[in-house]
Amino acid sequence: MHIGQLLTRAAQRHPTNTAWYDGARPVLYTEVELRVTCLADALRQLGLKTGDRVGMMLPNSPQALEVMFATMKAGLVIVPMNIRLHPEEHATILDDAGCSLLIYAAEFTQALASIRDRLPTLKTYVVVGDSPTADKRYEELLAMGSPVLGFQPGPEDLAWLFYTSGTTGKPKGVMLTHRNLLTLVSINLIDLNTPSHQDVLLHALAISFAGGFFMLHHVARAVTHVFLPRFDPATFFQLVEKHKVTTVALVPTMISMLVRSPARTAHNLSSLHTVFYGGAPLHAERLREALEAFGPIFLQSYGLGESPLTLTVLGKDEHTGFRAQSAGRVSTLVSLRIQDDDWNPVSMGLEGEIAVRSDLVMAGYWNRPEQTADVLKDGWFRTGDIGYLDQDGYLFISDRKKDLIKSGGATVSPREVEEVIHLHPAVQEVAVIGVPDETWGEAIKALVVLRPNAVTTEKELIAFCKDRLASFKKPRSVDFVPDLPKSANNKVLRRELRERYWQGRARK
Ligand code: AMP
Repeated sequence: MHIGQLLTRAAQRHPTNTAWYDGARPVLYTEVELRVTCLADALRQLGLKTGDRVGMMLPNSPQALEVMFATMKAGLVIVPMNIRLHPEEHATILDDAGCSLLIYAAEFTQALASIRDRLPTLKTYVVVGDSPTADKRYEELLAMGSPVLGFQPGPEDLAWLFYTSGTTGKPKGVMLTHRNLLTLVSINLIDLNTPSHQDVLLHALAISFAGGFFMLHHVARAVTHVFLPRFDPATFFQLVEKHKVTTVALVPTMISMLVRSPARTAHNLSSLHTVFYGGAPLHAERLREALEAFGPIFLQSYGLGESPLTLTVLGKDEHTGFRAQSAGRVSTLVSLRIQDDDWNPVSMGLEGEIAVRSDLVMAGYWNRPEQTADVLKDGWFRTGDIGYLDQDGYLFISDRKKDLIKSGGATVSPREVEEVIHLHPAVQEVAVIGVPDETWGEAIKALVVLRPNAVTTEKELIAFCKDRLASFKKPRSVDFVPDLPKSANNKVLRRELRERYWQGRARK
């Protein structure tokens, strides 16, 4: 049982399905299966052994999909690099993972030159395109392989080292096995009711990141893939119209960008029936706008790198009323509970830390036994997120534990304050954090990005909150900023905002 079988079976069942287009030429699933097997064999021929790590630095592209499948099928471990990271961050990850081979796009030749001498384990460089410093070209490597692979990985073998976005600190390698990923595929096929083998998936999220998790069950269903190398609304709309895209995964920031884009109304988007989203809260007002712009096509999930993508699901028809602010109900192959700081479950309806048990949960952090022991106990994984379950089993996520603000003895959820500020018509984006304060320990600060040409004042926004929230929850100050710092995966980095004010001082 291994992840490579998804593609093999998809090609057997739907041999004439188009995997993607090479210019105008349809590339069929049977052809992709053949290429992936040859690539897997070629990687083993290079001397790579089970468990060896293969770095990948490719934008969303057919090659990225092939490399991921071939690596895992060969019993090697894929280490996909988010291409939006700085070369220094790439060096840290490649070194931490101890990659022995890297497959990269020619556009990264220069970036790699600056870090190459610090990566002693990295022996072989394979380029997609052309680069004078590469050891091999991708197509040359493929041509070396035979279509018969005399090897199969097992379910407990490591398949994917996923370096988390670092919203919580330094990136750590999350170890995902074939079993973890096959569980993810099973959950998605059971709980999402989509896709069918006639669907067309647009890769707008990085395949090297959460987009890769979303890709797997689409391969299993032999859908057609369309690749968006770098997200921008205008190209997004063009591709949806041109390829009659039916399904896409996005993070909330992207959804808001699409809603606001003037290009939206110039295109026929009627083929689109599913927008899968998660990774961060989609604030109520932003969701309302999205539903108005696109209709009831939104499907939410909650997950982490450590337990990828689909711990809970909020279906398309559940995006109404108060429930639309929940992350939905627990997925079929997952147990979820709310617990206190000592791992004891708390009573229904009470708030606490979200913990899960499932074959979806990672094997641990790469080379970090202490940090692994900190989050895994008796089969349970604690997520670091605070939330509660309502009586019908809907999960409401308040915040990450570390983001909660302790002000004057009270605990304030930044998300709750953000929800209110989002209601103000002048506000485009907002992040709420706790900043040091002599009297209160932490004082609540809102950092606000205004809509183009909109005007408001600090006083007005504070009064706006005071009218809608308990007084102790209102911000004590508001800063207007041109933008908010985001991770490579488009999540607002509250930690980075906090650091500007705490400057190394420890929060209590
Ligand atoms: P990462 O491991 O970088 O993917 O980040 C995972 C974190 O994103 C979780 O711990 C949550 O704090 C947040 N997150 C993921 N999905 C959702 C969601 N649907 N709603 C709210 N927060 C989410």
